[in-house]
Amino acid sequence: MAAPQEALQRSAELIPQESHDTLQIRGLAREFVASPEFAHYLADAIAQPNAYPYAYMRRLGELGFLAMDIPPEAGGDGFTPSQLAAVIEETSYGGGGMGLVPTVQTTLTSGAIARWGTEEQRTRFLPDMITAKRIGAFLLTEPRGGSDAKGTNLRAVRDETRGGWVVNGEKTFITSARAAFETGGVLLTATRTRQPEPGEDREKGMTFFAIDLSENTEGLTVGQPFDKLGQPGSPLHQVFFKDYFIPDEPNPVMGEVDEGWAVVEAILAHSRNGIAAQAMGIARRGLDEAIKIGETRALYERHLVDLPKWRLRVELMTRQLLIAQYALRRSLAMEEAGHPYAPVGASLAKLAAAEAAVYIANQSLRLHGGSGYINEYSITQVLKDAVVLPIYEGTDVVQENVLYHYGATQDLVDMLYAPSGSVTRPPRNLPPIEEVFAAIDAFEPQPKVDK
Ligand SMILES: Cc1cc2nc3c(=O)[nH]c(=O)nc-3n(C[C@H](O)[C@H](O)[C@H](O)COP(=O)(O)OP(=O)(O)OC[C@H]3O[C@@H](n4cnc5c(N)ncnc54)[C@H](O)[C@@H]3O)c2cc1C
Repeated sequence: MAAPQEALQRSAELIPQESHDTLQIRGLAREFVASPEFAHYLADAIAQPNAYPYAYMRRLGELGFLAMDIPPEAGGDGFTPSQLAAVIEETSYGGGGMGLVPTVQTTLTSGAIARWGTEEQRTRFLPDMITAKRIGAFLLTEPRGGSDAKGTNLRAVRDETRGGWVVNGEKTFITSARAAFETGGVLLTATRTRQPEPGEDREKGMTFFAIDLSENTEGLTVGQPFDKLGQPGSPLHQVFFKDYFIPDEPNPVMGEVDEGWAVVEAILAHSRNGIAAQAMGIARRGLDEAIKIGETRALYERHLVDLPKWRLRVELMTRQLLIAQYALRRSLAMEEAGHPYAPVGASLAKLAAAEAAVYIANQSLRLHGGSGYINEYSITQVLKDAVVLPIYEGTDVVQENVLYHYGATQDLVDMLYAPSGSVTRPPRNLPPIEEVFAAIDAFEPQPKVDK
């Protein structure tokens, strides 16, 4: 029988290949992640999980990986979404938090300023963000519920006398928030500037601000880092606004006043491919950890990989990985082609990749036997890093709701999830992988019209 890696290799040939340039960039990132230097940064992050990894981020800046989401005319590398995703996947393979922090610094903040900021905001923030001299954070989630993002309630009220906005309220679960404060960086913040009129969509009346922390910070505080389960090196905080004043000059608004939802939506649509790529890296790592133990540990005088029922589980994990990879490649192609429903493709990719990562990490841990439960093995970290993937950047429910709203069938959505059931027999009614790829290809998003 072929080894699982060979099976993976054969099935991978069905997936659209990356361009030569993307493969080269991926190779550079992979080489860095395999280096003793990266291992040193990771060890620091594990030793101090709630400390911001400044040295690592500065190094990524030197390598050009923080300029990747910024077009050359704004001083960046102008990587394509596929190239950006390749770097995020590789750094996430090294460690979930090591992939998340640069994702926040690129797709959610500097990349957002490059795309949707004013010329002046680009000039003010980007040069120092691509070197990690200034750190960015993205503030959407509020304690009352992240999934209901249109219910944003951080109040920004006009102060005509002083010429600006007075902000009161709280944001929570904000990655990199303290580092943004410590570096005089930037908080990209969704606020409520007016209540929607009766009958008006709740997205109306939101305004999106780029808050410059090198200026006034009076009235702004950041909480102690949350003690979280995984992704060391990506600290998470609350941010409190108490009569915090944002002046009108220089213009702090991204997009239009009261129309900030359009910017939030566009940022998330772009960044969801980044989180899908992060999930791909974590999923691949989980699978490799299983293969590693399978090739070294022996039972009944055979290596685990040579036990057919052990291998069956690895093959199912491989299958989920390939489905996720297919969905992500398709989504990236849609984004690169400027497809009007590319954000829906990103929701599909994020759902598939997050589910694949959790399934693979969990299966991989079980395939280790008891050693999988011991913290000194990498697989415990992989599982701890994976379980948050279906939660942030829109939970599994939020992504499913997007897919159903745009006409996905339940059969398609079900195909994105891992099979469940007995661990020693192949699941029944599992569609061939080619059929799943075809179903993903056949999905042409169309918004449902409310009747
Ligand atoms: C490690 C980490 C990093 C993060 N980084 C950031 C960041 O940098 N910036 C930021 O703004 N936010 C960030 N978040 C917040 C994250 O985006 C939110 O946690 C997420 O959107 C979910 O919101 P919530 O936690 O309020 O859960 P809730 O929205 O309260 O959801 C609770 C449960 O209800 C379910 N649910 C939601 N809608 C429905 C429905 N219609 N029907 C049935 N069930 C439903 C959800 O799927 C979930 O299971 C981060 C979170 C974590 C854990």
